[in-house]
Amino acid sequence: MNKNYIKVVERDTPGVVDIIKKTLFVDFIKGMSLTLRYSLTRTISMQYPDKEKWIPYQRFRGAHTLNRDEQGRELCVACELCVKICPTDCIKVVPMEDDTGRGIADRVAKIWRVDLARCLFCGYCQDACPTTAVRLGRDYELACIKLEDTVKNIDQLLKPQQIPENFKGGMVVKARYERNKSGPKVRGNIFEKSDSFWWPMPDKCEDKCDGKSDKDK
Ligand code: SF4
Ligand code: SF4
Repeated sequence: MNKNYIKVVERDTPGVVDIIKKTLFVDFIKGMSLTLRYSLTRTISMQYPDKEKWIPYQRFRGAHTLNRDEQGRELCVACELCVKICPTDCIKVVPMEDDTGRGIADRVAKIWRVDLARCLFCGYCQDACPTTAVRLGRDYELACIKLEDTVKNIDQLLKPQQIPENFKGGMVVKARYERNKSGPKVRGNIFEKSDSFWWPMPDKCEDKCDGKSDKDK
């Protein structure tokens, strides 16, 4: 082996302070005091999924949503920029002509689908979108049994979001656990904050609970 590649690491000789610390078990006592302090505080367990649910902040990047304008027209113009920018090639868009007023332009998406099993949730697609049609929403409960359920199509993505985009989030709300044909789901009620209040809340919690953004006030 070439000697140039061997790096000799010399240990510092312990000083008097180090020797005293080791003799008196200072680090051990510090560690144990921290453990004891935590074992005497209130236990924190979020009652998820039966009673409580965490609503992420607006900046959270969860499952995709496709959006409409105020008149209900689809914002997607099927330009395929999101497809081009996606690093994992998990979006498929097939454009088509439509002059029925379905979209904001005559070009709409015949197929728009994303494979969430391959998605990195990097947000590049929403950054590239010229019409703010695609957004990464706040749905993070994406576990499913069948692999094909990880692929979301345009009809599923166009459905209104459970958590409105202008809702600030960053809080624990009351929730209800449901199991139906489409699988288990935890429905959080954003207008009812949790009683347990284990998460540090702002003084004016109502600001976060009314579903309005700063812009709306
Ligand atoms: S979040 Fe990133 S990886 Fe996922 S679909 Fe968008 S661009 Fe692709
Ligand atoms: S979601 Fe946006 S970027 Fe993607 S095809 Fe539609 S308009 Fe273009």
